[in-house]
Amino acid sequence: MPSRPDQLIRPEILALSAYHVPPAKGMVKLDAMENPYSLPAPLREEIAQLAADAPINRYPDPNAASLKAALREALAIPDGMEIMLGNGSDEIIQIIALAFARPGAALMSVEPAFVMFRMIATFTGMRYAGVPLNPDFSLDVDAVLAAIARHQPAVIFIAYPNNPTGNLFDAAGISRIIDAAPGVVVVDEAYHAFADASFMSTLAKYPNLLLMRTLSKSGLAGLRLGLLAGRPEWLIQLEKLRLPYNVGITTQLITEKVLQHGDVLLQQAAAIKIERAVMSERLAALNGIEVFPTDANFILFRVNRGNSAAQVFQRLKARGILIKNLDGSHPLLKNCLRVTVGTPSENTQFLEALQASFNHQN
Ligand code: PMP
Repeated sequence: MPSRPDQLIRPEILALSAYHVPPAKGMVKLDAMENPYSLPAPLREEIAQLAADAPINRYPDPNAASLKAALREALAIPDGMEIMLGNGSDEIIQIIALAFARPGAALMSVEPAFVMFRMIATFTGMRYAGVPLNPDFSLDVDAVLAAIARHQPAVIFIAYPNNPTGNLFDAAGISRIIDAAPGVVVVDEAYHAFADASFMSTLAKYPNLLLMRTLSKSGLAGLRLGLLAGRPEWLIQLEKLRLPYNVGITTQLITEKVLQHGDVLLQQAAAIKIERAVMSERLAALNGIEVFPTDANFILFRVNRGNSAAQVFQRLKARGILIKNLDGSHPLLKNCLRVTVGTPSENTQFLEALQASFNHQN
């Protein structure tokens, strides 16, 4: 008799729920931190031609040499640092965890943070240690330092800005964590395009710092491209775990083409930042809403005065607007929701539906 899945699959995997992506067809999609703008038509035509001519019967360049050179320049990777590409930064998180997952090794993050840190610790059999943020979502540096002393984590992930809270943590606090960490610290700059701070220029200073970026939030989510930068001695080892051909040929060609028009994504990010300020202000003007400061392309807010996040989420959904309900995902996120900054028209639709959902309640 062959074994049943529950006899062979690890119990911690049986206990997991798969990463949930809600259906969004026809909805105003403000749940996933995507850039709402498409590329200009002439650039889209160039891309169509590139795709038509691409030798898709052949494997892509396994080292993506040409794209890597373009990224080095576009992202100002410091001299002497190596880079590795992933199928989104999700894959890079997984590669890092795989490398450090010796029995008993711990993966640490703060909470609430990007859920894949915890999930990938589980995938790879690592012990997960989550250190709560302060109630205002700032970094509790002393708590992290105490947890480091206790868990001796092989790897610490810190998103800068953080998801789902949107804020940049205090850089000096992160530096203290990097100094105290016995293992590596990965600063995940997924939302860098919308923030005015980065650890990129400090890479050379810390022997145990790795830095992650992605093109998903700034406009190329569908292509799946993440990047890790760090010292060659770390990257040489991590490269061994990267699956061959993990970055497809269309991703390589199209990303390189878009980077040649680098100002397009920069201009879109600038528009999103302006719209973010408008939206935060309009949200804060609504009664019964607490809006948290953000350096990302999304806004975290809390509803009160008798509205529950679950109700608000459902009422928005009924009006064709999809955001993210975070209530129940962490005690600090009670009655919190997260909305991605969309186009001005999408944001207005969201704000009007939100206002109407409150009226509905009264
Ligand atoms: N890091 C953070 C902090 C994120 O919020 C996300 C996306 N939600 C990712 C990494 C993963 O992005 P991707 O795999 O699209 O590069």
